[in-house]
Amino acid sequence: MKKPKVLHNFYKSPAWLSARELKIVTVNGLCERCGQIGIEVHHKERLTVDNFLDSSVSLNQDNLELLCKECHNREHERFSKEVRFDKDGNLINSEKPK
Ligand SMILES: [Zn+2]
Ligand SMILES: [Zn+2]
Repeated sequence: MKKPKVLHNFYKSPAWLSARELKIVTVNGLCERCGQIGIEVHHKERLTVDNFLDSSVSLNQDNLELLCKECHNREHERFSKEVRFDKDGNLINSEKPK
């Protein structure tokens, strides 16, 4: 999934890097779900081009969660439109027809 350019820049900003660092230190560098080494800081309320400038969302420690790669992928899969198959192997279109 590609990120809008502004968000890409946000992830390189000193404000984000220090918020991220603080989160990692606070939870001892461990995934908050499974206790493995956490490597990715996730936003519970997902960042968008509309809210990333709002530090109560983008930099709020309560909105951040340190996750390992696996848990992070799992978390994001829940939101993505899943490709699913029925028991006969036919593709189920999860999008409602308009
Ligand atoms: Zn994990
Ligand atoms: Zn995430």
